[in-house]
Amino acid sequence: MRTAAIDLGGTTLKLGVVEDGVLVARTELPLAPSFHLDQVATAVRAQLGGASVDAVGIAVPGIVDAAGSRLVAAHGKYAGLHQVNLSEWSLDEFGRLARVENDARAALVGEVTDGIAAGARDVVLLTLGTGIGTASMIGGRLVRGRHGHAGILNGHVTVAYDGRRCPCGNIGCAETFASTWALRQAVGRGELVPGADLAERLHAHGSIGIRDIVETRHEPASAAALERFYGVWAAVLVTQCHAFDPEVVVVTGGVMRSADVILPELSRRVHDRLWSSSFRPPLVTPTDPATSVLRGVAALASTLDNEGHP
Ligand SMILES: [Zn+2]
Repeated sequence: MRTAAIDLGGTTLKLGVVEDGVLVARTELPLAPSFHLDQVATAVRAQLGGASVDAVGIAVPGIVDAAGSRLVAAHGKYAGLHQVNLSEWSLDEFGRLARVENDARAALVGEVTDGIAAGARDVVLLTLGTGIGTASMIGGRLVRGRHGHAGILNGHVTVAYDGRRCPCGNIGCAETFASTWALRQAVGRGELVPGADLAERLHAHGSIGIRDIVETRHEPASAAALERFYGVWAAVLVTQCHAFDPEVVVVTGGVMRSADVILPELSRRVHDRLWSSSFRPPLVTPTDPATSVLRGVAALASTLDNEGHP
């Protein structure tokens, strides 16, 4: 069975070909600011090199409808995509209906299928990046809820009831404190005044990310920011653990290239705060995080029946 896997990310388009459960090809392309699905179709065809596919999986950075075929709402470069039935687009382009899934859920499935959480049935995932993505699995089933929103919005738990308004509509979300976009806003507002090394990175690249904070934590301003991030991430994870009682917690995202720094500290804080009788799940990070979403969405796509039902 050959499956085309498509990961519509924040800045890049990742494509994979999975044959009988094994990722055999992978490419990553920068996404044009003026995103158009034709770019995706062309890139997928180029990767397949004329070969046909038995299934198509598409991961998207947003909430997907209950049928697994389209985005419920879309922003930024994907604005307007919610009006497109991606599953039918795939049928037109590649002769197969697609399975469309939220990218954090797809990453969780990838890690449960053949990754760091292989075989686990009760899992939560936290992905740290531009925003905070989450996903949950209970008893081997992805948590979706009635309208597809369950498990994936824990980056928007309230950590300050009198905090700032989040773009999502809620007030004081975790994301408004401990995400790349929040970090950049804090710098822009002058709330975070970078030390010399962080300022140098800001000058060199035009912007900074959470990883820059981790790597300049020898400076007081970065150390204070990182301390706040730990507090917020731990709050999110404690909430996830209390809600879903996992056997393992997967923490992923670009910042986890510093996992040796982050995981022990985050584990200590989460385990310290959990309900006294709660299981203390290990916090782990994927060994191949760049392919989690592709592997997961391909695994999901391979379970799609002929009528497009997962
Ligand atoms: Zn929010």
